[in-house]
Amino acid sequence: MRIEADRKLDFDDVLIRPKRSRLKSRAEVDLNRTFKMPHAGVEISGVPVIAANMDTVGTLGMAAALAGHRMFTALDKHYTTEELQAGVRGDFSFITFGIEDLKKIDAVMAALERNRADKICLDVANGYTEAFVEFIGEVRAHHPDKVIMAGNVTTADMTEALILAGADIVKVGIGPGSACMTRAMTGVGYPQISAIIECADAAHGLSGMICADGGCKMPGDVAKAFGAGADFVMLGGMLAGHTESLSDEQLKNLDKTDNIVEYYGMSSETAMNKYSGGVAKHRASEGRVVRIPYRGDVAHTVQDILGGIRSACTYVGAPSLKQLSKRTTFVVKN
Ligand code: 5GP
Repeated sequence: MRIEADRKLDFDDVLIRPKRSRLKSRAEVDLNRTFKMPHAGVEISGVPVIAANMDTVGTLGMAAALAGHRMFTALDKHYTTEELQAGVRGDFSFITFGIEDLKKIDAVMAALERNRADKICLDVANGYTEAFVEFIGEVRAHHPDKVIMAGNVTTADMTEALILAGADIVKVGIGPGSACMTRAMTGVGYPQISAIIECADAAHGLSGMICADGGCKMPGDVAKAFGAGADFVMLGGMLAGHTESLSDEQLKNLDKTDNIVEYYGMSSETAMNKYSGGVAKHRASEGRVVRIPYRGDVAHTVQDILGGIRSACTYVGAPSLKQLSKRTTFVVKN
């Protein structure tokens, strides 16, 4: 047994210290970023916030709405190829897979060629397995020019391993999610601000990128994630409960449910009952069901989130999102 005793930080442990600024208004702040992908060789441009690949968040409706703001969506992996063909706008969507048959991935990506889908999200709960690292290598070999985002991990060593295996973007976060029970069920995890700082440093050293995934509860947390060095930030709970992420049935039943809707983790009993025929005997559910009030169209929430990040940039004198982490000094709350 070993103990790492230096203090690791979570979103609630820090604040961003204000700095002298030349900016006159937050309207001057540019939130667009362009990233060159180290393996795929292509560029991604947009506002680097990504809706999580959860079936209550990463819907085709959400993707259409967010693309209007140049924001991204990692689509839920349970969509059929036909549904994806009918609804995907390639430039702002990631097509999500777990560890699965390469032939399936090849077939889906070939079918979406006309949608210009060039971004793949490889998502597993635990990105630390050798099998996952090998799998990333195989997907990279089959798709040399596709953007690959893979995870989740939460430490620098494994961020490097995934990038060396073929990932362009590493998804960082084990345990911080709002519908996540991993910390409670297993005792495993890592405070997210420290994870972002350490993994971003490791990724940038290899010309890779990270996506901070989980734990943002309000716009200030998104600003903190970017301030800590995240290139992309993924949001689940903050984008749940909107018109664009609800099923037709949920929308129809709003009156009956007093405007309360369910949002659940992808390893929750609800999700496992829906997609895997129940919780397998050897595993426990590591996701929870959260009941939240219906929040209307996502455009209002988007305005809050982007307004918050813009305002954070003006407080530290960052004329663009790219400058935010360079201008960020965190103060640790006691
Ligand atoms: P949030 O933005 O809601 O705090 O976190 C969203 C993230 O939580 C997702 O992108 C995903 O990484 C993670 N997540 C989603 N469902 C589950 C689950 O059932 N269990 C765990 N451990 N994490 C989940």
